[in-house]
Amino acid sequence: MYVFKTVKDLQNYVANNRNEGKTIGFTPTMGALHQGHMSLLKISKEKADLSIFSIFVNPTQFNDEEDLKKYPRPIVADIELLEKNGCNALFLPSVKEVYPNNPQPLNLDLGKLDKVMEGEFREGHFAGVAQVVKRLLDIVLPDKLFMGQKDFQQFTIIQSMIDQLKITTELVVCPIMRVQSGLAMSSRNVRLSEKGRKEATLISKTLKAAKKKVDSSTPAKVEKWAMKELSAPGFEPEYFTIVDGHTLQPIKEFSDSDYVVACVATWLEGVRLIDNEILKP
Ligand code: AMP
Repeated sequence: MYVFKTVKDLQNYVANNRNEGKTIGFTPTMGALHQGHMSLLKISKEKADLSIFSIFVNPTQFNDEEDLKKYPRPIVADIELLEKNGCNALFLPSVKEVYPNNPQPLNLDLGKLDKVMEGEFREGHFAGVAQVVKRLLDIVLPDKLFMGQKDFQQFTIIQSMIDQLKITTELVVCPIMRVQSGLAMSSRNVRLSEKGRKEATLISKTLKAAKKKVDSSTPAKVEKWAMKELSAPGFEPEYFTIVDGHTLQPIKEFSDSDYVVACVATWLEGVRLIDNEILKP
């Protein structure tokens, strides 16, 4: 696997491969890679000739200095994992390389997409995400972009950006990978104790149970029930919100939309965990 630290080197590599007629698949990450990330790599390898990953802990999407500082950065293990799984190239830039002229704001109209859920609790987060993904897309110019359903609101916003800016890259959304207990894989899970990891299964259990209530309840009632479930000792839930999967806006009845998703964020042992479940496909 090639490791490129500069835009120039990466772009030379991409240009050479494109000249050979190869299609480019790109997966942006913040590192601390796990099998969830590897599932994106597997799909990328199936759908594109060349698979490029980036690892960049983007400072502009963190609204909490501590969270940024504590973000795990096991780069040697990450490189090994990518190599073992057959990634072709890793882009590992510095902040200066990504933002040579300091971060410039992107003037995007995200409507109400970034006002709810994560947007409500992490001010400026999605402006930072859109900014870094746009910059990385400008650098790599991939044919396909791979992102996880794990970050439901994130991929919805990136799709909106792609549509608005008429970017020709196709977004491929990949399913959520979970450990056997049901806990969604996340780079942040390493910060949980053994006990915390066991307790955290309450999140996916609550989502699964919520799905079973669709035929006999209302979104508001299910949200209320779920928030109560998640108020178990040690948990500090921020939201459990049921929305239309396209607009991310709340719905009154489950029959109001044919695509309904429940999204949740909670703190446990000082770690912020998110997950979601599509209640109506
Ligand atoms: P991150 O490194 O957390 O920014 O994640 C990089 C990409 O991997 C994002 O598109 C995530 O949605 C995706 N991802 C993270 N966790 C999982 C998971 N458990 N299953 C599938 N994709 C994931």
